[in-house]
Amino acid sequence: MSRFSLDFDNRFSQELPADPDESNQRRQVVGACYSRVLPQTVSAPKLVAHSLEMAEILGISSEYCQSQEFAEVFAGNRLLEGMDSYAMCYGGHQFGHWAGQLGDGRAINLGEVLNAKSQRWALQLKGAGPTPYSRTADGLAVLRSSLREFLCSEAMVHLGVPTTRALSLVLTGELVARDMFYNGNLQSELGAVVCRAAPSFIRFGNFQIFSTRGELTILKQLVDFTIRNEFSHLGEPSPNVYLKWFDEVCRLTADMVVHWMRVGFVHGVMNTDNMSILGLTIDYGPYGWLENYDPDWTPNTTDANGRRYSFANQPQIAHWNLAQLGSALVPLFDDADALQQVLNQYPQYFEQGRQKMMADKLGFQCYIPEIDGALIDELLEILACIETDMTIFYRRLALIDVDVALDEVTDQALMAPLSDAYYLPEQVTVNYSHRLGEWLRAYVQRLRKDARDNAVRREQMNTVNPKYVLRNYLAQLAIDKAEADDFSLVNDFLALLRQPYAEQPEHEEYAVKRPDWARNRAGCSTLSCSS
Ligand code: AMP
Ligand code: MG
Repeated sequence: MSRFSLDFDNRFSQELPADPDESNQRRQVVGACYSRVLPQTVSAPKLVAHSLEMAEILGISSEYCQSQEFAEVFAGNRLLEGMDSYAMCYGGHQFGHWAGQLGDGRAINLGEVLNAKSQRWALQLKGAGPTPYSRTADGLAVLRSSLREFLCSEAMVHLGVPTTRALSLVLTGELVARDMFYNGNLQSELGAVVCRAAPSFIRFGNFQIFSTRGELTILKQLVDFTIRNEFSHLGEPSPNVYLKWFDEVCRLTADMVVHWMRVGFVHGVMNTDNMSILGLTIDYGPYGWLENYDPDWTPNTTDANGRRYSFANQPQIAHWNLAQLGSALVPLFDDADALQQVLNQYPQYFEQGRQKMMADKLGFQCYIPEIDGALIDELLEILACIETDMTIFYRRLALIDVDVALDEVTDQALMAPLSDAYYLPEQVTVNYSHRLGEWLRAYVQRLRKDARDNAVRREQMNTVNPKYVLRNYLAQLAIDKAEADDFSLVNDFLALLRQPYAEQPEHEEYAVKRPDWARNRAGCSTLSCSS
């Protein structure tokens, strides 16, 4: 038994009904919120990277993080005292269709840590072997997708985007067969396990499965459990509190999507099983970052035709997903009208958040509907009309001089600070420059209404427009190195992305637009779900 210990208080597994069958056979699990299952033993756990902050939050010393025991525990080879490992039962709508039982097919929960501040953090291993919910798949994960989840979820925290977190990334020493392009070409890849952390991993799909099956007692139990543990400020569960809770889930979800739109994040698979009840970004699969601002872009090759989960669709898809959650909750109410009315508020919650977010991005003190609506609409059209790097454009927009002599300055001089944002210089035509020039003139006049000087405005803009994001090709560079047993870039990016809003002039090379070689390379522009 290890001398190292964490304080576990496993409410989910203690308070909710367990699957009485403890065999690890793939099956439909009814009447239970979870199934107890042990992680699979692996041959050679090896730490690739860990998050310093997450370790600190949990009260795990850096020394222990570097130990072989840490790698063993977070690869799933041994359980610490107090851990109670299980896979959750949930269902979900995938690409708009009810898919029945899904569940943690390759995630194994370890339990809930109570840290020194009495905060509760559920820990979960992703890729630690099959569970009753693995259907036809292997329960494993490969290094490339695990590294992408590990780095991106930690980067999102520092960007201020609600998200699940990651404690560690460990190689298992096993090889995993994957058909990366779904073209019948199986390759052996390095197996890996990420330890994720979140206050709760409950998803919309956890509620849907019980509602769909008519297991209404468990549905109510799970709702009450969620409210008591995660939304206790709303009061003791009652029909009125259920409504308030659904309203809060709508607000949290809207807020999460507003943040995605702010930083140019595309989730890629917004199925209802991938929607956290806490409004956290969850399940990093074929996600991506907008490089050139293209609202129709989706990183997910499986979605290339329908583009259901494109950047621009995310707000509406979140609404659709909330509608599915709302439907799942109908049996808890005598009258579904009230639920519908709450759901109808979502577009307003999103729009209010979006207006404030856009005003912040543009450096306005507040959103003035009569002027700013049209100004923002025109900007978004301009951004999409030629290949313009979203991150660089907004970051450089802060450099526009509010005191410029508008009747003397040429369009070219006015737009000079933005020149690095363009992928194809030949697209920057006279017509384009004129259109952007007009916009910039209107923008400067709008800034003058706020009567703030350049320095104050720039400082504020630089807190919402990141300089560094995990560009798709950067993640791929870290993967290429890690697959060759060099983990330096993973750790460099982890450090870099800890301060995405800081200038970090020594890292300028990571703030530039996607190089041309990465334009069409797999992993750098689009991804399949294979992971
Ligand atoms: P995802 O598209 O990653 O959200 O996964 C959808 C469902 O498939 C979830 O129930 C996952 O747990 C499950 N799943 C995905 N990949 C695997 C895998 N390699 N082995 C077992 N189950 C998986
Ligand atoms: Mg998922």
